[in-house]
Amino acid sequence: MYAGVDLGGTTIACALASADGQIRSESSIPTRSNEGPQAVIARIALLVKELSAQVAGTPTAVGVGIPGLIDFDRGRTRFLPNFPTQWRGVPVADVLAREIGCPVHLLNDARLATLGELVFGHGRSVHSMVLFTLGTGVGGGIVIDGKLRLGPLGAAGELGHQTIVADGLVCGCGSRGCLETLASGPAITAEGVRLMKSGLAPRLFEIAHGDAARVGPAEMAQAAAAGESTVREAILRAARYLGIGAANLVSALHPELIVLGGGVAAIGDMLIDAVRAEILGRVRMFPADDVRVERSLLGDRAGVWGGIALAMRGGAI
Ligand SMILES: [Zn+2]
Repeated sequence: MYAGVDLGGTTIACALASADGQIRSESSIPTRSNEGPQAVIARIALLVKELSAQVAGTPTAVGVGIPGLIDFDRGRTRFLPNFPTQWRGVPVADVLAREIGCPVHLLNDARLATLGELVFGHGRSVHSMVLFTLGTGVGGGIVIDGKLRLGPLGAAGELGHQTIVADGLVCGCGSRGCLETLASGPAITAEGVRLMKSGLAPRLFEIAHGDAARVGPAEMAQAAAAGESTVREAILRAARYLGIGAANLVSALHPELIVLGGGVAAIGDMLIDAVRAEILGRVRMFPADDVRVERSLLGDRAGVWGGIALAMRGGAI
């Protein structure tokens, strides 16, 4: 039995799989990061133990996705930007291993989702792949010759922080004009809300009942599909920026496959087609029409599947 855990800002998701890759039990609970690292880690351990008890099994190993920078070799967190106290130097792997009674391996959440997609998703048939996680932030992962590229800090693959606009908006990372400022869920949603409040998106107003809190990429896609040209334009602008980011990766690495995951990917074909077109328009030095662009096969479970893959590999990438 192998366990995969995806620690997110609001939810902790966990699944247990048998050695043949069948999910045997799964569940998710609220993170409640305000309670601090000790309480959150204890809750993860309890969740894994409860799921193990449900199937009368014991995990051989656990893989955990962490939303931030980690010390991969020592199994510690370095910096979790969106968690209170930022979890500097918390020995998550050791504490969990003691509680659960088996080895525990950590990996950045976007890299873990990439590993999940590589082992259990669209990546099964390719040797090189780039994955964008398009959510509150924009993360990613790179696979070259079948191997996840981590770099010395496990930080390689921060695809959301490539500069797209030289003097663009300030980004959460401290730089300016990053892809994340242009194509993240909040970036796209902000423009939808602006259009709705300016009276330029009556369809979106209907769908969201005029409530800004109910506007998101999926609702905007719905309005665009219903013929709302302003919202469609907003989506296509974000998709174009994402396409520029993807084209940069194609020029640098010429991967076989580009995968789009996270909530923004719910926009669907409108996003995929625009990214594909942008790649073809921008990569002119070699034919790029063989580069596939797909929506993640595993969706929001890519992280949990990645944890299972990491556990199965004994922490070796
Ligand atoms: Zn940035």
